[in-house]
Amino acid sequence: MKDKTPDQRLTWLSPFFLGTYAENDDLLEKLVVELMRDHVYWRRNIHPEDPPLISELDRHSPEYLEFVAEMKTQLHGLTARLKNSVPFFNPRYIGHMASDLLLPGLIAQLVTTLYNPNNVTDEAAPVTLSLELEVGRQLATMFGYNVDPTVEPCAWGHITSGGTLANDEALWYFRAVRYWPLAAAVVMARRGRDPGRLKSLGAALADLDDWQLINLSLDRVIALRRELLAWLGDHLDSAQARKLAAEIESQRVEAQGIAEFHARHPGLGTPCVLVPVTAHYSWEKALKLLGLGSANLVSIAVTERMRMDADALELALEQAQADRRPVLAVIGVLGTTEYGSIDPIDDLVAARQRWRRQGLDFAIHVDAAWGGYLASIFRDSDGTLVSHQDLRKGFRHFPSNQVYQAFAALRHADSITVDPHKLGFVPFGCGAYIARHRGMTDFISQKAAYVFDAESASADTEYERRFRNLGQYILEGSKPGAAVAGVWVSHRVLPLDHRHFGRLCGETIRNCEYFFDHIAELREALAGTARVVVPFEPDTNLVCLAINPEGNRSLAAMNRFGRRLYDQLSVSAGADLRQREFFGSRTLVHRSALTQAVADRLIAELALDPASFVAESEDDRHQADSIFLLRHTLMNPWLSGQSRGMNYLDRYCRHLAELIQRLLA
Ligand SMILES: *Cc1c(COP(=O)(O)O)cnc(C)c1O
Repeated sequence: MKDKTPDQRLTWLSPFFLGTYAENDDLLEKLVVELMRDHVYWRRNIHPEDPPLISELDRHSPEYLEFVAEMKTQLHGLTARLKNSVPFFNPRYIGHMASDLLLPGLIAQLVTTLYNPNNVTDEAAPVTLSLELEVGRQLATMFGYNVDPTVEPCAWGHITSGGTLANDEALWYFRAVRYWPLAAAVVMARRGRDPGRLKSLGAALADLDDWQLINLSLDRVIALRRELLAWLGDHLDSAQARKLAAEIESQRVEAQGIAEFHARHPGLGTPCVLVPVTAHYSWEKALKLLGLGSANLVSIAVTERMRMDADALELALEQAQADRRPVLAVIGVLGTTEYGSIDPIDDLVAARQRWRRQGLDFAIHVDAAWGGYLASIFRDSDGTLVSHQDLRKGFRHFPSNQVYQAFAALRHADSITVDPHKLGFVPFGCGAYIARHRGMTDFISQKAAYVFDAESASADTEYERRFRNLGQYILEGSKPGAAVAGVWVSHRVLPLDHRHFGRLCGETIRNCEYFFDHIAELREALAGTARVVVPFEPDTNLVCLAINPEGNRSLAAMNRFGRRLYDQLSVSAGADLRQREFFGSRTLVHRSALTQAVADRLIAELALDPASFVAESEDDRHQADSIFLLRHTLMNPWLSGQSRGMNYLDRYCRHLAELIQRLLA
């Protein structure tokens, strides 16, 4: 990778996108027209013997012409308005998580829309539903999960509307599995059915109390359900067995509601979900949505690199154990939205090993909405992990040992969120939920337990059958097959390994390294005018900057200056976006998200008065409880195009220096 000259790198990238000046317009037009004609022939070949319903004469009728005129007017009105859209595709856009789109995905999505498949079921999407399951396997393989159906556990995954829905679904699944043993135990005891010692538990169901039942690992619960239902099938006639299974369903938390369920299990504390303080706000939404209560989202402190602090996690787990609060899940973030930082997934896995032995279990979900595709950098084409040493050759700093270990540990997570519409470079509405064990879907199906059907086929055909009715196993219902087609074609053209997709993602990291290494020059250019501080060394491809005018000691004043600066880089109402030199974004890091040591370091580097950084915002115009940061998402692969005479990162640094000088003049 490093051996490639910058020029070769850009040549490699050149057919991927429509391009900053739409250089590949011919390619896009030719392919869209060709594939659209292909669609037309498809229509014409479905019962061509039928007479056309729209006649030549109809097309000259006044009503027809009137409609066409109105349609054209409105469509032109739309595109006129769209001209004030945010130019995500342009390397001058370094704000939020959007960039240019991969042509294969874009064209596939546009063209598939003509066929309008609905991936809720294969009856409405005989083609794109299997593509969706294939995409699930591709992403699962990138994370290191097993996808061979003859080996347990076998992963599966599907496309969602975005990362938010995938995160919701992760908790929805965990709750379904983790609470199931309690419902089963209630019914078995009530009906006097005792299978005795169960292999899956190494004990009898009746021997476990509620705390133990809710602290069984996901894999153990999956095995327990299978064993218990098989026992019922063996010992009762089919009707009785079904009745009991239905009774278990009626005792589940999904049937009873959280309040009623917990009232019946008074030994259990309120369930909680542990996230780093840097977690995306979708987690708060998820707890509200599932009725778990956003107050039960426990925030874990982060280190000076904005990664979850394993010691703080340990303390929170101790507290949960002491309070008998079930820990539904611990969420690790792979690429935080604000800083791109990578939580120590390996430490989460190790913590679970330890706590499992002490009777406290939790599911691990990795929110890799942003950083998930970076896993392609770590994968060889045969599916093995690239060694750390080989990986390092392509970069100046990336990946640190901790980052490497976090990616290597992904296969131990129970499920993962990843957004193809972020670093997958496909159009919006495309996230993904990937689970390590497809057996978790046993707990979602609304249908009677198939295990009692004498004629039931192998487990594998059962899962295949099941996923053809995808809508029954996911949160969403009707969903666009076109979105799936876009991801599928992109992954076909650029497989998820370090030679293909990984190389593209690698460009985002290399651009970030370039920017990071050139901040010293920005600092020099502003010497005596303003202090430029990188508050957290980047793990991936996001960099934040804190900027304090020279001589200013007040944090609140620094933040006010930051906002004025950001006004010149933002998509604000009324601004003519075509006049903007660059687009950035901003974030506020709250005092509570920082340890004392980090807060002290930042205040010192920015030469601020420590008394101006307070825990809670008061009405003092010199104090503040947060630090204003300019945030840069370096996702566009064309940012450092110096070999073509335009290095956007150098240009941005010059622009930023000019803006600061102008504002302070
Ligand atoms: C973007 C993001 C989300 C939310 O994903 P959407 O696709 O916007 O719904 C969740 N978590 C992280 C870490 C993200 O970066």
